[in-house]
Formats: sequence, structure tokens, C-alpha cells
Amino acid sequence: MFIRVLKSCIGCGICSQINPEVFELYKNYATVNRDKIEGNEESCIDAALNCPVDAIDLNEY
Ligand code: SF4
Repeated sequence: MFIRVLKSCIGCGICSQINPEVFELYKNYATVNRDKIEGNEESCIDAALNCPVDAIDLNEY
């Protein structure tokens, strides 16, 4: 799975609350820890679905 956070992120922190292993806020912008995606895919999808501005772009390979 590939994940990126789009520039439209408003830094609300919902993704990092849902999935703190993969998403972390840095200067009001969500960053992705790619090393932790594997095994956390369901939680990544959950975070993407709950992002209020649809800023989490993910693709499944
Ligand atoms: S849930 Fe969306 S808007 Fe909120 S911090 Fe995460 S990526 Fe940004």
C-alpha cells in the first residue's frame, strides 16, 4: 500500500488518533511513516475514510 498526504491537510489530527503508528502530525501537517504501513492497512483505510478534507491518498498494490 502506498500512502501520501495531500497539501489540503488541515492538521486536525484525526488520522494520527486513529492510526498513531503510521500518521504523525508535524507542524500541523500529517506525515506518513511508510515503514509501519504493512500490517496496519485496515487502520490506514479507516484514517483515510475519516479525514474531513479527504487529504489521505492511498493506493493498494
Ligand atoms: S485527518 Fe486529514 S486533515 Fe486531519 S491531519 Fe490527517 S490528513 Fe490532515
